[in-house]
Amino acid sequence: MLGRLVRWLRIVGCDVLYGPNFSGKGLLSAARREDRIVLTRDRRVARRSGMPPLLLVESDRFREQLRQVIDAFAIDPGKSLFRRCIECNADLVEATREEVTGRVPAFVLATQTRFRRCPRCRHLYWDATHVARVRDELSRMGLACGAPAAAQEDSP
Ligand SMILES: [Zn+2]
Repeated sequence: MLGRLVRWLRIVGCDVLYGPNFSGKGLLSAARREDRIVLTRDRRVARRSGMPPLLLVESDRFREQLRQVIDAFAIDPGKSLFRRCIECNADLVEATREEVTGRVPAFVLATQTRFRRCPRCRHLYWDATHVARVRDELSRMGLACGAPAAAQEDSP
């Protein structure tokens, strides 16, 4: 339900857990244990007593959702852009050309100079045209972001 928001929050560097393992009581106890804030679209959940800190996401449109979360937690979207794996939330590490050779298309290897990899799911990231698209999208949302950082591959 909040999948697109989750990916965008990871793009701007937020530590976000999401998926079928995170629901019901398991989600709430994980939130308490790890000192996390629950994002929900469910007003009934939000009204329940004894909940961990929680934000009721108002809109069903991801741009408005992102805007709301960024405002609510005073997130600087340019600060940690492209530092986190969009797929699994792990912190990315720098990868050498040797490490990515054979795992990225030849034209990528020929045209890109900086690569990052996810130590958990092995996803590879590099600067590509959609990095510019992400920046455009953020600035269209009124969320300016700073200097270029290494980026991301296939589809956000
Ligand atoms: Zn990953």
